[in-house]
Formats: sequence, C-alpha cells, structure tokens
Amino acid sequence: MGEEEGGGEMPRLLPPSFPPKFGADPPRFLAESSPTQRSSAAAQLTLRPQARGEEIRWNLLKWFARHKRNLPWRVHGNPYRIFVVEVMLQQTQIKTVIPYYERWMKTFPNIEALARSPLDQVLKLWEGLGYYTRARNLHRAAQIIVDRFGGKIPSDPEILQTLPGIGRYTAGAVASIAFQKPVPLVDGNVARVLSRIYNLKKDVSKPETQKFLYAIAQKLVPPSPLSSAPFRQRRIRLRRTGGRGNGEGKAKRPGDFNQALMELGSLICIPEIPKCSICPVRSLCLAFQKGDPSRLPIRSKGPEVKKIDMVVGLLRKNGKILVRRRPPRGIWGGLWEIPGTVCLKNQSSEAALAEEFKEGLGLSVTAEKKWSKLKHRFTHRLAFIHPFELKMSGNGKRQRNSAKTLWASPAKLKTLSFPVPHQKILKSIIPHGF
Ligand code: SF4
Repeated sequence: MGEEEGGGEMPRLLPPSFPPKFGADPPRFLAESSPTQRSSAAAQLTLRPQARGEEIRWNLLKWFARHKRNLPWRVHGNPYRIFVVEVMLQQTQIKTVIPYYERWMKTFPNIEALARSPLDQVLKLWEGLGYYTRARNLHRAAQIIVDRFGGKIPSDPEILQTLPGIGRYTAGAVASIAFQKPVPLVDGNVARVLSRIYNLKKDVSKPETQKFLYAIAQKLVPPSPLSSAPFRQRRIRLRRTGGRGNGEGKAKRPGDFNQALMELGSLICIPEIPKCSICPVRSLCLAFQKGDPSRLPIRSKGPEVKKIDMVVGLLRKNGKILVRRRPPRGIWGGLWEIPGTVCLKNQSSEAALAEEFKEGLGLSVTAEKKWSKLKHRFTHRLAFIHPFELKMSGNGKRQRNSAKTLWASPAKLKTLSFPVPHQKILKSIIPHGF
C-alpha cells in the first residue's frame, strides 16, 4: 500500500460499498460455500451496510475518546516509541510490557541509541519478556533504519514489512498510530470484535478468514484525517450542530480508530463473557442480537502441546559456574544458559547430561545432586526442566573461557542474559550470589 493511498482522489467519508462485497474477489471460504450459505453470510453482513459502518466508527471513536487507558506510549505519539512498544506487545500483555517499555526508553531513548548498543545489552534489557527473536529483530531493524532511512522510521506499511520481525499487523499499527495512515490491522482482539459484530461463523485462525477480516477492517478505518476536506467540513458541521459526542472531532484518525477496536476487545468485548451491556456498538452487533456472542470467534484448536524433559547441569569451579552461550538463532537465541539438553526417549537425565557435557564441552561429569524440577511452557511444548549439581570427573581445567563458554562469578552472572527458567534456577540455587 502506497504512502499516499487515495492520493489525487477526493477522500471519502464513507467507502463506496460497506461492508466489503463478496463479488469480484470473494474470500475463498465464501466462494467455496453453497449459494444458500453464501447468501446467508452476505445477508448478515449487508444489514444496513452504509449506516452500520459509519455508526460503528462514530460510536467507537466517541467511546475511545472517553474511556481509553492512559498508557505511557500514548502520551508521546512518537514513532520510535510506538514502533518499540508494538514489537513488545506481540504475544505479550500490556501490564507485562509497561515496566519493560519504561526501562527501555530510559536506556535507549531513540533509534540511534538502540542501533549502536551491543546486542548483549539489548537482550539483557529484554530478559524475562520472552520470544527473544523480537529483541534481536528490533535491534537489527533499528540498525537498518539508521543506515538506510537516516534514522527515520518509514511510514509506508509496505516498507515497514521489509524490516526484520515486522509483519502486517505491526506495520499497520505503526503506520496508522504513528503516522495516521488509513491502514487496517487485525490482532486477536480485533478478530474477536469484528467476528461478533458481523456474526462471522468462520475459523479466524484460517488465512482466508484473516483476509476477510482485513477487508472489513480496511473499510472501517477512517481516511487520513485532518487533511481530508469532507472530514474538515463534517467537523465544522458537527461543531455548529453540537456534534454527536465529546472528543469525536479530535478522535477522527486511523490510529485512534484502530486503537479503539483493540481497546474494545481488551476492555469490553472480552473473550469469555463480553460486557455487552456497556458496549458502545451493542445496537449494531449481530452476535449480540442473536443472543450468544461468547461462542464467537470460532478458532480451531492449535496443535497438541507436547511434553518434553530437559536437563541442565551446574558445574562449579573456584566459586564460578560454567555457562554457555546459545546459538544466535532458534529458541533463546543469543542468550546464556546453564549447559544442558533435551532428554531423548528412554534416556535418563544423568546420561543425557554426561553425554551433552562430553560432546558439547569436552568435559567428563557425574551428577551429584538433583534439585527440584520446574515447568516451562513454550508455544507448542511443555518442558519439565531437571537441574543437577555436577562434579567434574577429569579434564575440567581444560575448559577455558571463550565466546561461547564462560566460568562466571555470581557478579558476572548478573550481567548476562538468561532465559526465564534458567534465571529461576540460578536464583533458587545461589540466591545470595545471583
Ligand atoms: S455487543 Fe457484546 S459481543 Fe457485540 S461487540 Fe459489544 S461486547 Fe462484543
């Protein structure tokens, strides 16, 4: 999508047809459905079409102006801050992100500071937030923005999507919230809200449904705001007539609208029991009218969570602990770890550790003591991590510090970035030193 979407054309207050029609390019799930199913779906979605789209927009923007949460990144509207927080918010809740965001902005107040910082420092600040690939991508994206774009975050969503770790959702969020581009976004909250408003009985985890949700969101998002003549005229008219609610004039922006959709999903149209009685779009919501919105959205079950056993070994020498750096890619990429491995089927923890230390580090070890196991949930795996205290049984002195291994003192351990379960193990085993 170009930066100047619709440039040259008179911006429209309403799209020519709303909601999107299933005519020339219907989403595949509708094209494949029977004529009866299709006409039924289309009938649901064309109920008071123009009025519905406009009313949804008005009501949401008015509600958002009054009820939006006071989040730290909403104070500034700075593209760099929005860029960083949108990456942090991928897969992570707002209340978890806030302290990380605040620490981040103190350490890396601008894109140049982030780009020139060593990756180790970036990972250390990210420690505990999970999905560390995001931190590595954010660091790399900052370097690209400084090198290729003169330190200015691109406003074009197509260009944003060329940066590492930036997909359609994040590009839409940055372009609309930071630059007021009329670009849609669909995250889990938006998918739930739109599925309910339009009573969409299709699996939202399927690509064709996502495509359709994006088509609806695109039609709903307001045009770029204050440059739009019809919008200006309408604002003037509203001011003269007293308007339709407080904050409406200020809030007529793509970024506000996208945030309003997400905020509604976070605060009102929540997963289990939506708070329909206080919802600003209740009168327009088909699922509410049908009487059972909580059964939407439809989402197919993800792959079965597999259980795995992992084992880690604490090896001490002269008050120091042997730690190892993980490869830059993959799970916990680039972080430090207590050396260990995944146990194979029918392999004992002790045997798995001895093999890993021998083959991976050239050390002969035996397990001396077993500590309590802990659980850690990966996206599709539930890991049981078994920590052991180890004893060297041979050539330990030959294991020297390198880029990948380190005998770390308790003070040094504090400066390294570890995955959350390894932090927990270190804290529980050496609570005064870590
Ligand atoms: S009326 Fe209920 S189901 Fe519909 S959008 Fe509002 S909260 Fe969600």
